[in-house]
Amino acid sequence: MTSQLRIIQNCKFPRFVMLPNSSLQLHAFCDASMTAYGACACIRSYSQGLTTSRLHCSKSNVAPLKTLTIPMLELSAALLLAELENCAYPGVDKGKGVEELDGGTRLLIKSIQQVHFTEELKALIASETLPARSKLLSLHPLLDADGLLRVGGSLQNSNVAYDAKHPIFLPKCHPITKAIKPFYFEKFLHAGPQATASLRQKYWPVGGPKLVASVVSKCVRCFRTKPKLAEYVMGDLPTDRVQPNPAFHTTGIDF
Ligand SMILES: [Zn+2]
Repeated sequence: MTSQLRIIQNCKFPRFVMLPNSSLQLHAFCDASMTAYGACACIRSYSQGLTTSRLHCSKSNVAPLKTLTIPMLELSAALLLAELENCAYPGVDKGKGVEELDGGTRLLIKSIQQVHFTEELKALIASETLPARSKLLSLHPLLDADGLLRVGGSLQNSNVAYDAKHPIFLPKCHPITKAIKPFYFEKFLHAGPQATASLRQKYWPVGGPKLVASVVSKCVRCFRTKPKLAEYVMGDLPTDRVQPNPAFHTTGIDF
């Protein structure tokens, strides 16, 4: 590490980042490791046949002491990147940003599905029936326009959103699935397992309910603030109700 410090002397970042009267593009990158994560934004400017790409800004953080998984750290890096993009390009069309982020998410999930639901995808693309041992069989999976595997279900005629009608399948133990759940748990302000399970409005983790419950039961804040229900001691029941007698020996009426 120290031997590489000398290289810094040769590093130069011109302060003039764009060509005059040029068209601009913002290219941003982020990455994470177990020790740190960071993001940078470069400006690519193009004018009269000349193109330059210059570093515009960058930011890095050391990873928190609490051990996080790489996907969690990568999400942190993505968040840092979004902040950086906002600073670098305040005028950027937010709608487009969201669109691009959605596209990225779809691409990521698609590649995960290709690894974890290979057989199902193969069968659906070939319009064949799913293998009998498939866990998705009862959910009548379908392929959407982007090639994502979604729950088929029976809500075809309801007027809820497409995502809610056909949530996207996620494999049970994938780090992304594990990262999405705490995200929704925080988003719903630490609601119980049932409310957190409403992340199924968009995603369908295979074998979900149990996993959601595990997120909730592991939360220290929820455990601390959990109210204790009052328990009442039952009084003694009257003699007539606890001693055997012929039918209709004792009768009563409630007004
Ligand atoms: Zn909680």
